[in-house]
Amino acid sequence: MIVEMEKLLEPFALDIRTYGNLRNILVHLKEHGKTIDDFIEYANIMQEAHIKGIAEQEKAQAEHKANSLPCPECSLLMTLRPVNIDNSTQTGDDSKSVWICGNNKCMYVEYSEKTVEQWRDEIKRRSGNG
Ligand SMILES: [Zn+2]
Repeated sequence: MIVEMEKLLEPFALDIRTYGNLRNILVHLKEHGKTIDDFIEYANIMQEAHIKGIAEQEKAQAEHKANSLPCPECSLLMTLRPVNIDNSTQTGDDSKSVWICGNNKCMYVEYSEKTVEQWRDEIKRRSGNG
């Protein structure tokens, strides 16, 4: 029984943060008169929310990828924005959209005479053929 307990507690001996977290949980349960079942129920809810959060993040990334092109300089996904649609987006030419690399060290920018909608259609077509 003692050997089993030692094996269970092995990670807490090695990792001071894990140990601190476990200690906080136990103290909280004790102070609030909670049971281990209460803790497991709460942990399950947290876990579900965490998994849901990851799934939503992955979905958002997939959508971004489906509407984006890789930067020709650094190959990170770029963001497409409309230009010449109001006073703050004037470029002084016939550009209708701009690709902006999200990489701060790259800063690649490419203006285009295609509209955002035209680009979206083209990306959809390209991914459909590929
Ligand atoms: Zn780039």
